[in-house]
Parts: sequence; C-alpha cells; structure tokens
Amino acid sequence: MKEFKHFINGEFVTSALTFENRCPADNSVIGTIYEAGKEEVDGAVRAAKAAMKGPWGKLSVNARVELLYKVADRINERFEDFVEAEARDTGKPKSLARHIDVPRGAANFKVFADMIKNEPTEAFRFEGPDGVQATNIAHRTAKGVIAVISPWNFPLLLTTWKVGPALACGNTVIVKPSEETPATTTLLGEVMNECGVPAGVFNVVHGFGPDSAGEFLTTHPDVDAITFTGETRTGEAIMKAASVGLRDISLECGGKNPAIVFADCDLEKAVAGTMRSVFVNCGQVCLATERVYVERPIFDAFVEKLAAAASKIKLGAPDDADANMGCLISKEHQQKVLSYYQLAVEEGATVVLGGGVPKMAAGLEEGAWVEPTIWTGLPDDARVVMEEVFGPCCHIRPFDSEEEVLELANNTHYGLGASVWTENTSRAIRVSEQLEVGLVWVNCWFLRDLRTPFGGAKQSGIGREGGVHSLEFYTELKNICIQL
Ligand code: NAD
Repeated sequence: MKEFKHFINGEFVTSALTFENRCPADNSVIGTIYEAGKEEVDGAVRAAKAAMKGPWGKLSVNARVELLYKVADRINERFEDFVEAEARDTGKPKSLARHIDVPRGAANFKVFADMIKNEPTEAFRFEGPDGVQATNIAHRTAKGVIAVISPWNFPLLLTTWKVGPALACGNTVIVKPSEETPATTTLLGEVMNECGVPAGVFNVVHGFGPDSAGEFLTTHPDVDAITFTGETRTGEAIMKAASVGLRDISLECGGKNPAIVFADCDLEKAVAGTMRSVFVNCGQVCLATERVYVERPIFDAFVEKLAAAASKIKLGAPDDADANMGCLISKEHQQKVLSYYQLAVEEGATVVLGGGVPKMAAGLEEGAWVEPTIWTGLPDDARVVMEEVFGPCCHIRPFDSEEEVLELANNTHYGLGASVWTENTSRAIRVSEQLEVGLVWVNCWFLRDLRTPFGGAKQSGIGREGGVHSLEFYTELKNICIQL
C-alpha cells in the first residue's frame, strides 16, 4: 500500500487527516493520501517564500536552465515509474501514458527552460521635445510564490505545463494536485531532490478543494499568483479568492468543443481525427469534441464510419496492451456520465452506439467503465448538447451552410477549442476566424506546439499560456528608464 505524503521544503511529511486513493479500473484501494490542513499549506508557502530569498532567487538563468534540463532527463530515466503511477491513478492505458502524459510532462521542463534562455525584451530610445534623452529597457523578474491547482485528466502533463515555465522564470511553486491523482506529482518531489533543486522551490500539498488544501492555498495571502486547470465553476471560486490582494490568475477551464466536418473534407482523415478527439483518454480531455456538425451530403456516411470505428474500441485495464481505452476517473464520475447517457435518451436522442456500462472481464467489474457512445437527433438546446459531459461520447448533427454551422458551433457559454475538417483552405481560414474559441485545429486535433498561445475564450478560461504567454504570466515585466 502506497502513502502519498506532502512534499514541503524538500521533505516528505504527513498530516493528521488521510483519505483513500483508489484505482478506477477495478476500484481497489492503492494507497493513503495525507490531507493538508492550514498548517501544512502555511508551511509550504513559507518554504516557497524563503526559497525565493535564498539560493534559488540568486541563481543565474543558466544555472536554473541546467537544473530544469536535469529534471526533464530524470523524468525520462524514471519513465516507467511515472507511467505506472499515472496509469494506476487514472486507469488509462499505459500505452497512452507512454505516448502522451510522461514524454510531454518531461518536455515541459526543457521547452520552457529554452524559452527563458532565449527570450528578448523590449528597449526604446526616447527623445523629448526639450532635448531630453533616455533609454528604456524592459526587464523580467520572477513573480514570486505561485500556487498550481491541477485536475486529474492528465495529471503530470498539466502540472508540469505550469511548473515548467514557473520555475524557468525563477518562481517557486506549491502544487495542489487533484485528490484523485496524487502519485506523479509526489514522484516529481523525489525527482527534484535527486536533481539538487533547492528545498522550498517545488512543494506539494495534497487534499480537496473547498475547506481543504485547495482553498487554504488559494486564499493564502503570501501566494503571489494562482494558475488553475479545472472546471469553470471551480475557476470562479478561485477567481474570487484571488481578488483578495489582487493576485494574478490564469484559468484553463472546461469546454463543449465542436468539430465541423465539411463535405469537401478528406472523409477518412476526418473520421480518424474525430475518433481521437471524441474518445482519447476516455473522452476526459478539456479539448475533446462533444458536438460534431457534419455537412448534410456526407452526414449518413460520416455517422456510419464513426460508429463502425468506435465499435472496435477495446476497453481494458492499464496493462492490457491491446486496449486503446481505459475507464473514467472514478465511480462518482461514472455516475455523472451515466446520468447524461440517461438524459440523452430522455431528451430524445437516437443512440447510435453504446449508452451504457460495458461488460468487463473478471476483476474489472467494479471499475468506472462506460461504453463509447454516439447520439444523433437531439434538439440544439438539449442539456446533453449544451453541457460538458467529460466522457467518451458525442452528438452528431447535420448542417447545410457555413453560416448555420457557425451559429450552432458558437451557441455555447464555452470557448475552448474547435476542429474544422475541409480541404478548402480559404474556407478553413474563414470559418476558423469566426469561431469564438481560443484554439482551432484544421484537419487535425491536439497537435500542440508549446510555443503557441493556449487558453479559452468565454467561460473556458482567462489568459493564455504557452510560449511567450507563459513568460508573461510567470514574470513581472519592469521598465527601467535611464536618462542619458
Ligand atoms: P475540478 O475543478 O473539480 O478540480 C480541479 C482542481 O481544483 C482539483 O485539484 C481540485 O481539488 C481543486 N479545487 C476544487 N475546488 C476548489 C476550490 N474551491 N479552491 C481551490 N481548489 C479547488 O476539475 P477536475 O474535475 O479535476 O477536472 C476536469 C475539468 O477540468 C473539466 O471541466 C475540464 O474541461 C477541465 N480541464 C480544462 C483544461 C484546459 O486546459 N482548459 C485542461 C484539463 C481539464
């Protein structure tokens, strides 16, 4: 049985309260998680603040970059430890953790280390009417102590996506991983010690959100900025907490992302891409497609092909090398997704595929499994069409014109991502420009260049991270004006 301890000031520590960590593939208890109270959170913040004043705050950019390279290398050396930890916490296939979670988790340290090393700043030569002259130089400094609040769907990847740039910019961090997925963030603490990252630079506190570690951390007055990934409603609570003391926030929240498939697309490519965008990680991706709009001439063919491909999905435990889909994160989330499956029927859906609980092999019956599911025929204002389900499911609806589909795609409070399938480049650009989202993929999905802006419009978030946008968030930009 594993124990998931807090990592504070370079040491693993326990606290009075604990809760269970379960593997959702079979609902077995795999460990005990310590829940941080105010005392542990305060200890972590004090350690992070002290490290800013200590060796970390005085380290040269080059030395910092070298350390972050070491962290990335060490994650890769301990690759299978991270794969095992992520797969057990989430129930995802190890093949997926090996392909996405762990390599991208390691890359987040290298990419942002390179970025800070090569980042230019502005300079302006000033000449006033009275002959006064000055040179203005912009200078970036670390923001200070950053709270990182992470979700459970890609625990290591989404945590390091924030920890990487935060540390590269010279900040210290306290991570509050999701209560569902403590393992890889805890392992990262071991890696930090193995690489010689000074104590207090990277801290981890475990626990829940309200009245627990999440709330205690985000309301702590010595936290200088908060970066969050999770549900929109949680983002609202965090924004309120951050308003006290005017702390900066970056919010990456939920989505109800459309895929728009035009009749002039490459149909095989569109079906294969939509298979990924709907079903990868059991649909638990903020960027996942849950609404598919298909131009009428190819509607029937598309539905038939997607259903045929989805019916071949093989559900299985993390170690099952043939499985290409795992389970949901928890029994609780399974109930939520199943309630939407039920609601879809009540709202008048035609169930093209799935809609229930699959029959799993012996030993997995207690796991959080749901069938890959496809619906058609729902009204545009159905709750299943409007609300984020966060499961392996989508609704497919025909459309007749660009104008109509833009209206449909934009008819949501969310604005995270969209994908557009067409071989007509002018149309691709025209449609992309009118979609009210932060990210559009044309003839692809989830193709991520870490230098590009990432974030959501509307209720899908505030701010952008990625590339220079991460540097914007994790640094204070100071202007130094020198009169000549
Ligand atoms: P969640 O909002 O329930 O939890 C996220 C984190 O916030 C957890 O660590 C949780 O303990 C913490 N938390 C909860 N309430 C809090 C509070 N009041 N104060 C401080 N912390 C609190 O989200 P989840 O269920 O873990 O993740 C799924 C959601 O995340 C989906 O809505 C998904 O779309 C979204 N998501 C968005 C992105 C993105 O980049 N936009 C990426 C992944 C997931």
